[in-house]
Order: sequence, then structure tokens, then C-alpha cells
Amino acid sequence: MKLKFWGVRGSVPTPLTPYQLRRKIAAVVQRIQPRDLESQESRERFLSRIPKSVFGTIGGNTACLELVSEKGQRLIIDAGTGIRELGLTLARKFTKPATYHILMTHFHWDHIQGLPFFYPLLKKGNRIIFYSPVKNFETILKEQMRPPYFPITMDIAASEIEFVVLQENNFSIGDFSVIMKSMQHPGGSVSYRCSVDGKSVIFATDTEIDSPEFVHDELNERFFRNTDVIILDAQYTLREYIDKTNWGHTSQNMAVDLAMAWNIKKLFFFHHEPIYSDNEIYRMRKSAEWYNSFLGRQNVEIHIAREGQELEV
Ligand SMILES: [Zn+2]
Ligand SMILES: [Zn+2]
Repeated sequence: MKLKFWGVRGSVPTPLTPYQLRRKIAAVVQRIQPRDLESQESRERFLSRIPKSVFGTIGGNTACLELVSEKGQRLIIDAGTGIRELGLTLARKFTKPATYHILMTHFHWDHIQGLPFFYPLLKKGNRIIFYSPVKNFETILKEQMRPPYFPITMDIAASEIEFVVLQENNFSIGDFSVIMKSMQHPGGSVSYRCSVDGKSVIFATDTEIDSPEFVHDELNERFFRNTDVIILDAQYTLREYIDKTNWGHTSQNMAVDLAMAWNIKKLFFFHHEPIYSDNEIYRMRKSAEWYNSFLGRQNVEIHIAREGQELEV
């Protein structure tokens, strides 16, 4: 399956500031040698050597993930501000009406704020199906998309909109099998394990991983064990977490512990703290890698989820 991050930031959209952009440009200029400018090739080579923390950005849009199976079945999870760019891309790609499936983890602002700007919602002939276990989630979503907050209501949006209240933890959408799991977060949130083409991805944002997720019960076994990729809330350093226990987010050390405990190969830190610059987030990964090798039980590949990043699972 293909996976793409459209929004990775937690809590609030966080665009690069002019100061941060200037610092990145200055860091690039500092590295240039005369030989790097000799030809198109040497310039490309130079650009490819620039560290990720300097070249581009981790991204400022809030939570939105896209998964696509080999057969072309598409799942979207969460409607943070990242869904706006996804909607525009889909509209360019598919000119004919289509059906879009959007799974919701919960309804904090950073997970719904992009929805009014999801272009396919406003286009006649499209069918948009939302999924959540929350009984009144239709009202919750409609309430944020009405005057005085937004000029167009969901009822007059041109697409056909449906709301599916999930009653079971296991369900299918096209060729995807999905397992849903309730997580610890103020007001509650759910995580999804999406499996297709012999691979599986867990999307577990806005969750405070703690002892219940390490218990070897039947649901944990089915949900976590041997998953190929986990995209996991890792908003805090361990030190911050001590001050922010019960705020509903996970420390990076705990994220590594969880991936190790359940033999999960690839761990993507997600829901990045808005106060941190790209450099600081990459430094946190270094410290998590150190922790990983210090534990020495097995290696978990640790990645930083970056906006626009695509991978084949
Ligand atoms: Zn959030
Ligand atoms: Zn939240």
C-alpha cells in the first residue's frame, strides 16, 4: 500500500516563520563551495547532500493521512488542515465523481479544521463517507461547518455526505480490513490499524501510551503485534512528559518502548509539538535513536513524519 502524510503537526497549524526560513537559507549558503556551482549536476549533487533538517520542512499542517491499496482503494484519516492540499490534488487527479472514505480519530480542532476546505466535499457527484464510533459525530462535524464559522453548511455542500457510526471494532472498507481501538486522550480518541495487500499500518495519534497498551490481551495482540508501520503520537520529550502527564500525548521514549514491545518495524513520530523547530524535532529523533540502541533489544527504525512524504509499505 502507499502512504502519504498531508499534515503531521499537532495542536495548531504551524507554518515556517520568515525568521526560520531565513535561517534555513543562511545554513544552505554557508555550505556552498565554488565547485558546487560549476554545473547543473554539481548543483543537484549539492542540494541532495543538504540535511533534511535544513532542506524543506517537516511541515506545519495538522493531521491528515492518506492510504491507497494496490487496487486503488483510498482511505483518508483525519481532516486537519493537511486535507485541504489533499483535496486539491484529488480534484486535479480525478475529474469524474468519486467516493471518499474519511476515518475520524476524534474531533479536536487540529483534526477537523481542514474539512470545510476539502474541495471534493463541495463538488457535485462526489460521495463522502465519514466514519467514527461517536454516536453524535454527524452533529459535531455539521456544527463546525455553518455560519458564523463558515459560510457553507454541510447540508448545502454539493457532494452526497454520509455518516457511519462504527459499532464494531473490526470492519472493512473496500479491500482494507480495519481494527479500531479506543485510546487514552482527553475526551477520548480512537486509533486504526489498516491492513491490505499483506501489510498493515497503525495510525495512533492523540494518545497517551501507558501500561494498558503493554498488556498481552487479545485486542492488543491483534492490534499491535508485528505491524509493519506505526504512526504514533510522540509530541513530548521524556522531561516534558513528566510535567504533562494526563495531557493525552506520548513521550518519544514511550513510543520506542511500544514499538519494541510489539515487534513493530517502523516507527514514525507524529503530532509534532508546535513550539519545536525542524532542528529541534530532528534532535529529538537522535535522542530517541540513542535510547533505542541503549535498550539494545532489537532495532526499531525511527522516522520523523514529514508533510508531503510518501512511502510504499
Ligand atoms: Zn491533535
Ligand atoms: Zn486531540
